[in-house]
Amino acid sequence: MPSFISFNGTLVQKKSLTSDVLYLSFQVPAEFTFKAGQFVIITMNLDGQTKPRSYSILNPPSESGKVDLCVKIIEGGFASTLFSALKVGDVLLMKGPFGHFLFEEHTMNPEHWFICTGTGVVPFYSMIKEYLPGIKDTKFVLLFGVRSKKDLFFYDEFRQLQQKYPQLVYLPTLSREQWEGKSGRVQTHLPTDLTGKTFYICGIKEVVLETKEYLLSRGVAPENIKGERYN
Ligand SMILES: Cc1cc2nc3c(=O)[nH]c(=O)nc-3n(C[C@H](O)[C@H](O)[C@H](O)COP(=O)(O)OP(=O)(O)OC[C@H]3O[C@@H](n4cnc5c(N)ncnc54)[C@H](O)[C@@H]3O)c2cc1C
Repeated sequence: MPSFISFNGTLVQKKSLTSDVLYLSFQVPAEFTFKAGQFVIITMNLDGQTKPRSYSILNPPSESGKVDLCVKIIEGGFASTLFSALKVGDVLLMKGPFGHFLFEEHTMNPEHWFICTGTGVVPFYSMIKEYLPGIKDTKFVLLFGVRSKKDLFFYDEFRQLQQKYPQLVYLPTLSREQWEGKSGRVQTHLPTDLTGKTFYICGIKEVVLETKEYLLSRGVAPENIKGERYN
């Protein structure tokens, strides 16, 4: 028996989070269940062509009956063109859940480091919402890189979570702008002491591979490094 199901997702909400990131909320059957960090594959139909595309699920599993997505709109991209035109009430065929990029609930490491760029933050949003309230003795660090302050979506939300849960450290960094916070690429803000940490990395290939390679070269055990590549 397959561990995934196929189902229809009906778009119930759509809004722009930045100039090139869309938030899309789909109503889905309650029998669709998943774990934080997993993704769905959507069948995209456009101009007589059909292509599958993968998207991490934004909402935590405890919010059932919905699949929320954050999609970076790439000019001329197949799915990007379809998502841009999608209207409330439109239905997409989805299947899932897929993926093994999961939160290590029972690790002995006292720190979880979530390292991401752009929409690579999506699985971490789900993991943080799902696990942060119930885990008090483990530090969660979210190192989130975008180009400029205007690209920093969920800024207020992560700041509020940080105030509510002192075990969360939110470290946004801008690669193309100086501001009151951190600047530079995410790779430049990794901790100097790499022991006692589980590293989760998500986003474009370059960031995931470079960060992984760096951590391995500094002696971090492979089982303490998890990666999800978007391309
Ligand atoms: C497991 C998994 C989960 C994913 N989750 C998400 C998610 O939550 N949100 C999300 O936005 N994307 C996510 N992606 C990427 C997504 O599946 C598509 O690849 C992406 O939306 C581009 O699709 P497209 O059809 O619009 O572009 P295409 O028509 O496939 O590509 C257009 C061009 O853009 C390039 N390109 C592809 N991705 C990027 C990128 N991120 N930045 C810059 N250039 C790019 C391609 O190399 C190509 O040259 C995920 C991918 C995987 C494998």
